[in-house]
Amino acid sequence: MSGGAAGARKGEGVYNVVVVGAGTAGLVTAAGTAGLGGRVALVERDRMGGDCLNTGCVPSKALIASARAAHVTRHGSRWGLRDREPDFAFEDVMDRVRERRAALAPNDSQERFEALGVDVFRGAARFVSPHEVAVGDVRLRGAHVVIATGSRAVLPPVEGLAEARPYTNETIFDELRARPDGLLILGGGPIGCELGQAFARLGVRVTIVEMSERILEKEDPDVADVVRRALEADGVRLILGGKARRVKRLAGRVQMEISHAAGDVALQAEALLVAAGRAPNLEGLALEAAGVSFTHKGVTVDRHLRTSRRHIWAVGDVTGGPQFTHVADHHARVVVRNILFPRLLSSVDTSVLPWCTFTAPEVGRVGMSAGEAVKAGVEHDVWIQPLAEVDRAVVEGESEGFAKVVTEKGGDRILGAAVVAERGGDLVHEVVVAMKGGLGLKDLSGTIHAYPTFAEAARRAADRYQKSRLTPRARALFSWLYRRARRA
Ligand SMILES: Cc1cc2nc3c(=O)[nH]c(=O)nc-3n(C[C@H](O)[C@H](O)[C@H](O)COP(=O)(O)OP(=O)(O)OC[C@H]3O[C@@H](n4cnc5c(N)ncnc54)[C@H](O)[C@@H]3O)c2cc1C
Repeated sequence: MSGGAAGARKGEGVYNVVVVGAGTAGLVTAAGTAGLGGRVALVERDRMGGDCLNTGCVPSKALIASARAAHVTRHGSRWGLRDREPDFAFEDVMDRVRERRAALAPNDSQERFEALGVDVFRGAARFVSPHEVAVGDVRLRGAHVVIATGSRAVLPPVEGLAEARPYTNETIFDELRARPDGLLILGGGPIGCELGQAFARLGVRVTIVEMSERILEKEDPDVADVVRRALEADGVRLILGGKARRVKRLAGRVQMEISHAAGDVALQAEALLVAAGRAPNLEGLALEAAGVSFTHKGVTVDRHLRTSRRHIWAVGDVTGGPQFTHVADHHARVVVRNILFPRLLSSVDTSVLPWCTFTAPEVGRVGMSAGEAVKAGVEHDVWIQPLAEVDRAVVEGESEGFAKVVTEKGGDRILGAAVVAERGGDLVHEVVVAMKGGLGLKDLSGTIHAYPTFAEAARRAADRYQKSRLTPRARALFSWLYRRARRA
């Protein structure tokens, strides 16, 4: 019998919701619907947990944690200790990555979801009609279907690249065991920078090849520049403005030919990682059979996450929007509500959307950057507080970076922020809450912050705004008041 609300056998009868894909978006949809008493089928063709658990956030952050420990050991003298080359086996670090992942895997497991009352089916799903999805010989019928098939790494059209069998995020955490003699990374976006720095800190000679003139292209240049300096200090070689032309596999090594304004180069390394963009997983779903519209960017959805068929929804990376686990989670919650209350449709609200690039220092971001404000023609002010003037950062020896807050011109309404700092991804949430709650820089400045903390960075950026409001006229008035008080 199904663990769901109705009495039908597993796979038989009608499900309230058939969910395709058991990554964050699919799991949250399935758990939310089952928790409210709905009958749910969940289909997964690969590992439960999707990208985040298996090949994305979790293994990458586990790797970064080991890299950080190696870095601290190597630079002990910054804290009055001795610099020592960390003594470790690369294989142990990669084992730990998988072991940390295994520690979290039970949360997303088939057993857990079955215990929640969800019918789990393993295999690739494809539409056979608007209300039916086939998994092998089983046909699942759903009043609603939720497409949560995620995205995958794209190999750019470079001659010989596919044949060279490069690593992507889908393979590197499982297949890379011994320390490679050199790692080439194609792509200087968040994934390339996070992994490049981590592997460099773990003793790998890393070269990142990036087509544009700077890394982290979506960030303001001053933000990306702090990360660039940090990567270079960790020994990462950056080839910016370099376009990969051809890749060849030579006995145990990979060679990449790159064209560059300063002259073409050919680089060799034992391993190659491609982190050069993502594409939605649509192939094999037979969306035509259901009449669902899509583009190369993903399934087309409205603000309620409805596709071109009213009873079919799409959530997470496959919609082609911002590709983050917390967005997948938000989408799923919206769809669970919308399926239950079709007359009271909720909309996606990513007006205050934080994210983080987990380099060291981290880049915690929310809302508009200064560059985006310029592009959108939004008049704005920028308030920057360098960490070099934040006492806690100075005593910790972590004073590279800054808090940068973008406000509407002449006012204190916050449009966005970047916190480039150790744990910047955590620190930015003060600004996230302020934006969500409609608080401005005056409120941040007027809030007592514990001393000495990194969190003072955002408050001191807010103080800068407050000081800017002290006009020469007001200052003259205050001086007069002080003079009068001295005479009294
Ligand atoms: C290296 C890396 C690091 C990242 N780090 C972060 C981070 O730190 N923070 C963050 O917020 N985000 C991070 N992300 C992004 C995050 O992983 C994704 O945004 C998130 O996993 C999207 O969830 P999803 O459910 O939409 O898709 P996925 O997690 O991709 O899940 C989709 C699932 O659908 C399955 N599927 C596909 N097609 C079918 C089919 N036809 N039938 C059955 N099953 C199917 C897939 O096998 C997969 O399990 C990272 C991504 C990468 C690659």
